[in-house]
Amino acid sequence: MKTAAKPQQLIPWPNQPLVAQSLVGGEWIKSSGASREICSPYNGKAIGSLHTASSQEVDRCVSAALEAFEDWKRVPVKERCALLLKFRELLLRDLEPLAQSAARESGKLVSEGRAEVLKGIEVLEFAASLQNSDLGGALEVSRGVTCEYRREPLGVTVGVTPFNFPAMVPMWMIPISLALGNSFILKPSDKVPFTPVMLGELLREAGIPKGVFSVIQGGREVVERLAAHPGVSAVGFVGSSAVARSVYTAATGSGKRALCLGGAKNHLIVVPDADPSVTVEGVVASFTGCAGQRCMAASVLVAVGDVEPLLAKVVEAAGKLELGRDMGALIDKASHSRLTTAIDRAVSDGATLRLDGRAAPAPSGYEGGNWLGPTIIDNAHPSMQSACEELFGPVLTIVRVASLDQALKLERASRYGNALSVFTTSGAVAQHVADQASTGMVGVNIGVPVPREPFSFGGTKDSKFGTGDITGAGGVELWSNRKKITAKWGLQPDKNWMS
Ligand code: NAD
Repeated sequence: MKTAAKPQQLIPWPNQPLVAQSLVGGEWIKSSGASREICSPYNGKAIGSLHTASSQEVDRCVSAALEAFEDWKRVPVKERCALLLKFRELLLRDLEPLAQSAARESGKLVSEGRAEVLKGIEVLEFAASLQNSDLGGALEVSRGVTCEYRREPLGVTVGVTPFNFPAMVPMWMIPISLALGNSFILKPSDKVPFTPVMLGELLREAGIPKGVFSVIQGGREVVERLAAHPGVSAVGFVGSSAVARSVYTAATGSGKRALCLGGAKNHLIVVPDADPSVTVEGVVASFTGCAGQRCMAASVLVAVGDVEPLLAKVVEAAGKLELGRDMGALIDKASHSRLTTAIDRAVSDGATLRLDGRAAPAPSGYEGGNWLGPTIIDNAHPSMQSACEELFGPVLTIVRVASLDQALKLERASRYGNALSVFTTSGAVAQHVADQASTGMVGVNIGVPVPREPFSFGGTKDSKFGTGDITGAGGVELWSNRKKITAKWGLQPDKNWMS
């Protein structure tokens, strides 16, 4: 590790404490429920406070969204998309403040904050393109008989989002749902409430009608009330697997459509023919980006055969990263302590610590933050905690196997199914891995194989509860119904079973 960056270079600070309000019926309200301080992962100091919505405020929010839906669904799709395109201009105008806000509250680098806003804009662009694409179709299915389908919105839709992408994950859902004519209630993570407030403010500036978009602040109680609420038609959720499963059960149990994305334990398979520079860059960026707090982050490196020269380069490159400059902080103290305990446990389980991030210096002036440097655990057994449980931090666990099929067997045994990547120069190896992977997303020489739009995002197994995907064409199916209309306008001579 090199010397730390200068404190003033890291992150701009708000001039005054922020207050995370809820947007209910088009007005910001300081909710009457419990309030708590929100501290920046960078230095542990308070940025502002969050005010949890009461159950009456949740109900009021749903009622306002239901009322607004009646008009919004009748707004022509081109007008809805025009509003989204105005929103896009505002997001680009405020790219820097949004990126800084996401970094300040989630601990990531400002450059990573910028990247997440841009990915959110990509989803918006897909949503705005719906005005010219899949919004219906008709066919003469028999003489004089026409079948038609129309896409129709569902009603009040809800998105519950995690801490690690305060802008991007809300943007996976908001534009597609709104473009299709739904009203949308965002329940952001109670750890990162401020960037979502900025999104709400920009949507207001873009002219979103009152109640069509709402933000409701809070934690578990608010989610439970929304998931059970009779006025809500569909729930999208992104977060840990345990909560994803329970929200899915609650929402579908009360008759709603739900898609709930969960946690991950992503494998990277490295074979001896892998290109060294592509591999080292891809592996290091994958497990250290956003301090490992990405559902697509590399977590287990499966070393096939003798790839030691590559591994040595990975350790060397990761060891050069500087906290605060190349890597951000962990979300909170609980996360920090969970990870340091997991590192201790890996060692006591018999694995080798090749790079110990606990020794990495915090950036000067930011010693109160939640810093952990890149950590590499080697010679782990697949059954060890660090090789099979989601740790959600900059920790890479190396498991060594003799063959590609053993590597694939190991991936298939994982309870999670978000992403699998292979590093190879062989097309046949890449094809075999893509065929055999049990994950929803596969990378070839890409450490973070997030599909770009319109290719949709979603995993398998305990990384996803529900069917379909959350973005792209999957998002269109999630947030709409197909209405099928079969019609004829006169008696036809050639009668059949449809006549
Ligand atoms: P989390 O599950 O703790 O929280 C997610 C959301 O659920 C938040 O809005 C939170 O307020 C709410 N919540 C928390 N506990 C709840 C409960 N008991 N009942 C109802 N709602 C509850 O997740 P997190 O710590 O914010 O985010 C990290 C997790 O999210 C990791 O597991 C990561 O892999 C996962 N994640 C997955 C994806 C994906 O696409 N699969 C993307 C990003 C993050």
